[in-house]
Amino acid sequence: MYYKEIAGVKVSALGMGNMRLPTLDGKDDNINREKAQEIIDYAMSHGINYFDTAYRYHGGQSERFIGAALKAYPRESFYLASKFPGHMMVKKEGGMVGFTSGLAGWPDNTVEGVFKEQLDKCQVDYFDFYLLHNMSEQSLTIYDDPDLKVVDFVKRMKAEGKIRHLGFSSHASSAQTIDDFLTRHEGVFDFVQIQLNYLDWKLQDAKGKYEAIVKHGLKVVVMEGVRGGRLANLPEEQLAKLQALRPGDSAARWALRWLQNLPEVAVVLSGMTTLEQITENVETFAAPNPLNEEEKALLREVADSMLNWVPCTACRYCTEGCPMELEIPRIIAAYNGMKNGDFMARYDPDTADPSLDPRRCVGCGACASICPQSIRIPEILAEFADMLTKRPPFPPRR
Ligand code: SF4
Ligand code: SF4
Repeated sequence: MYYKEIAGVKVSALGMGNMRLPTLDGKDDNINREKAQEIIDYAMSHGINYFDTAYRYHGGQSERFIGAALKAYPRESFYLASKFPGHMMVKKEGGMVGFTSGLAGWPDNTVEGVFKEQLDKCQVDYFDFYLLHNMSEQSLTIYDDPDLKVVDFVKRMKAEGKIRHLGFSSHASSAQTIDDFLTRHEGVFDFVQIQLNYLDWKLQDAKGKYEAIVKHGLKVVVMEGVRGGRLANLPEEQLAKLQALRPGDSAARWALRWLQNLPEVAVVLSGMTTLEQITENVETFAAPNPLNEEEKALLREVADSMLNWVPCTACRYCTEGCPMELEIPRIIAAYNGMKNGDFMARYDPDTADPSLDPRRCVGCGACASICPQSIRIPEILAEFADMLTKRPPFPPRR
């Protein structure tokens, strides 16, 4: 494992994301603790020292899990990062309430109350890194609110030693939003966590966001480096091009090596679900191995061929409030597949699970209001339903 720095702290170049831990019974809030603990133990024994969680991950269970999982290790042997869930809050008299607070494990509290609950859930006295979760055009109503004073609060917690380093994550639509927020709060933050990968460099202006952060002299923590697994599962034609140049290297390794070309990237987070994934990723980060010019050009070509994809990262934020219990990210993956002629093209909702049938969407819009990628989900599902209606029937399976 090689290491980089955030504000003088030596952090592992690969960080452990805790939003895609293995689960039981297909339930996101039912973490398979035995398997997940194996992954954390592997991480600790292979040099990973940065562990990222958030209030909302795994329906509120990720913080509980990682707090317990790291309990066996000396506190100074790991860095724990968590996030204040302002992006999912609305203001009410006397504080805030989670706008999906009908679900178990959601805050209905003051800023102080949420923070204390997070320390308790993680079984720690302080966070090494603490972020405002998804500072964006929408969540500024909370983060800039003059009564809630969220930024003042986290600064105070830092002064009291309960936070060592401050940052924020962002899925803002515009790089300008990040730039403006940093300018308003110059000197407060040490790092910013953004969605960064070779596809979003152009598709979601990750380039502009990276440059805005670097302009303020800050480090970048990467989320969605393989886009929720999408860049690990490329269409066959694209994968063949990569493997012709580097036989044996997976698509995920290409995506992660691309990130090694960016000097101000400190930590690349990966939400690793299996021991196989973490084993491969640890190998990829054994030493820096950035892409050469020929490899960069090829990956640009691959990215350009995917620019019409719906940019879903499979974060699953949208599924929690869907009244029809639709598996929205899987439906969007099928939609992308059908549009781009890859392996999902045989997707047949008549024989699939009802949760995979876009025709069952009632267009309520609950999903779109929560999607960090600002995907117009009901419109995509309606278009997909229309495509399925017009498609000729599949030949019978043999
Ligand atoms: S718009 Fe459709 S997919 Fe979205 S929450 Fe409503 S029913 Fe579910
Ligand atoms: S549609 Fe949006 S909220 Fe839903 S899984 Fe994809 S990126 Fe996440």
